[in-house]
Amino acid sequence: MLSSSTSIPAVITCKAAVAWGAGEALVMEEVEVSPPQPMEIRIKVVCTSLCRSDITAWLSQAHTPIFPRIFGHEASGIVESVGEGVTEFEQGDHVLTLFTGECMKCKHCTSDKSNMCQVLGLERRGVMHSDQKTRFTIKGKPIYHYCAVSSFSEYTVVHSGCAVKISSTAPLERICLLSCGVAAGLGAAWKVADISKGSTVVIFGLGTVGLSVAQGAKLRGASRIIGIDTNPEKSEKAKVFGVTDFLNPNECEEPIQQVIKRITDGGADYSFECVGDTEMITTALESCCEGWGVTVTLGVPKVKPEITAHYALFLTGRTLRGSLFGGWKPKSNIPKLVDMYLKKEIQIDEFVTHNLQFEDVNKAFDLMREGKCLRCVIHMPN
Ligand SMILES: [Zn+2]
Ligand SMILES: [Zn+2]
Repeated sequence: MLSSSTSIPAVITCKAAVAWGAGEALVMEEVEVSPPQPMEIRIKVVCTSLCRSDITAWLSQAHTPIFPRIFGHEASGIVESVGEGVTEFEQGDHVLTLFTGECMKCKHCTSDKSNMCQVLGLERRGVMHSDQKTRFTIKGKPIYHYCAVSSFSEYTVVHSGCAVKISSTAPLERICLLSCGVAAGLGAAWKVADISKGSTVVIFGLGTVGLSVAQGAKLRGASRIIGIDTNPEKSEKAKVFGVTDFLNPNECEEPIQQVIKRITDGGADYSFECVGDTEMITTALESCCEGWGVTVTLGVPKVKPEITAHYALFLTGRTLRGSLFGGWKPKSNIPKLVDMYLKKEIQIDEFVTHNLQFEDVNKAFDLMREGKCLRCVIHMPN
């Protein structure tokens, strides 16, 4: 099926897990993957893990449904071919995909204050950034993308600004987690909140992102890391990543923010909302202290996107900060995280609770919906 490296890449026919409708089980289909267009690369996906936002988008009853669609945005792979004008990558390079890219040229990419690329930012319409078209078809009918990544396919095409080259010695079945969840949590702790030694931290939601915040806080020397989750099974796992106190709001007799205020002498230094519930953002704000308390929100809201909070929370010195992908500039920062993992400075393996073959991708959706996994790594066929 593959073209030789010298000729113009041909269409590849391969297996992809296609979502035909909101909440419908994915179906393994033969899809045609077009050659990479100018400034794009085609990747042979090696491993891809399921992230909560895939599920949120898959379940979403949007006004204009984007189906059929190929989900998946947390992935590692090997460059199969490159499009015209690509000099940064060559066939055989090991890469991570980026759901928010870096063009290196726009106002945000050239500012050290932002990772919100104006050209290759979060793609929500299910098409490629460059021409608003898809690179997947089934019998000529277009199949939409997700975040311009779509890694639930043996091969995918991404913009060269939406992938980052990484060390070929890094295990692709582990570091795919740095493509979204783990990096997002670490960045929120280090780059966005910039947690200082000895501080108190509260984390709402102990999934992969929340536990990565905990890991980041622990490595910064936080003295107390309070983890909040309604799933009691998270308690043991949370300790592995540095959570010192586990609280289940359902088992508390007073509102959780009051419990936190009481045990932290007026509120934590930092609170993180990793659930994707906008009402929880208010609770997180109320859980951090007056004067310097910082709340960072990382969750993707599932329903009501508006936030309500009493202005007095801000008047008394609290700050609310949003972050996408932990504030990392992906091209510049992610290879360093990969190197930190190789030097055993950060933990990733402990997040992988399940390894599944590609044909079992729907099991990963079930496990995540039932709260039974952190990360399911899906292994593509060789
Ligand atoms: Zn994600
Ligand atoms: Zn840019």
